[in-house]
Amino acid sequence: MNLAKFARRRYTPAPTPLEAMPRLSAALGGPNLFIKRDDLTGLASGGNKTRKLEFLVAEALAKGCDTLVTVGAVQSNHCRLTLAAAAKEGLKCRLVLEQRVAGSYDPKASGNNFLFDLIGAEAITVVDAGADLSEAMAKVADEVESLGRKAYLIPGGGSNPLGSMGYVACLEETLSQCFDMGLALDHLVCASGSAGTHAGLLAGAVGVNAGLPITGINVRRPRAEQEGNVLDLAQRTAALAGVATPIKAEAVTCLDDWVGPGYSLPTEEMIEAVRLLASLEGILLDPVYTGKAMAGLIGLCRAGHFKKTDNVLFVHTGGAPALYAYQSIF
Ligand SMILES: *Cc1c(COP(=O)(O)O)cnc(C)c1O
Repeated sequence: MNLAKFARRRYTPAPTPLEAMPRLSAALGGPNLFIKRDDLTGLASGGNKTRKLEFLVAEALAKGCDTLVTVGAVQSNHCRLTLAAAAKEGLKCRLVLEQRVAGSYDPKASGNNFLFDLIGAEAITVVDAGADLSEAMAKVADEVESLGRKAYLIPGGGSNPLGSMGYVACLEETLSQCFDMGLALDHLVCASGSAGTHAGLLAGAVGVNAGLPITGINVRRPRAEQEGNVLDLAQRTAALAGVATPIKAEAVTCLDDWVGPGYSLPTEEMIEAVRLLASLEGILLDPVYTGKAMAGLIGLCRAGHFKKTDNVLFVHTGGAPALYAYQSIF
């Protein structure tokens, strides 16, 4: 792999911190837990989509596009960060918001929704769950073109092979930090949603022959469906990155035990995980993704899934701005 061959904008000036979580590790009685602070990437309030946008926006600029069009849930971190990238680059940005929970769009809602307006979405189209999202985006793109402008379409979560390259890069960055720290990781855990993060990490780990198992914790889909999505995207990402080793289905694990009643709907385990990380480590998780992913990691630790001496890294993918839209459940 030689990622420098890809055009890239830089939105985070330095590697994100990789920190130990000694108080959480002690509270759980092991293993040794670490955290990759991708909640501290650049753009407005950070998160995993920043890394994907570095590659996607570079392509948009190379193609001479002046308007980013993307899609997400009503509290989408991805939409917030796409807006922020557009603002920074002097581009316009239009959003399609999917009401994955019926009636969940409230134009006056706090959290990311408030930031859509603040950062300056040029237009917002709200569609119901199950709507054809590519069709909805194509319609927005037509509107943009009818104004004599040029749209660049970014799929949900920025999760195509080019966007996932951001997490191939994150895997390389992480291993380099671990080498400097003398830290040999045994396992990696991340949230698995639109799959670009998980797929990029996996393509990177296979690409450098890291021998590092990765467990995704689902936030929306059933296990078999998510594992299929991650495998497919990891293979396409690996092909784009020039990874020669095939990615096998056995390398993909997506646990669905912590989704609860559905995407973005609170669970007791999520609330406990958000509270534990805040009170023991001073780290803010989010209710939709990292709270559930951390609930999964905590559940795996308690179930004895890891050896007590294992070094396990949690990839913090961001999302804390959504906390303010969920204050009442805490
Ligand atoms: C989008 C998102 C995820 C999921 O990442 P995918 O690449 O979509 O699987 C995890 N955490 C946060 C905070 C997110 O916004």
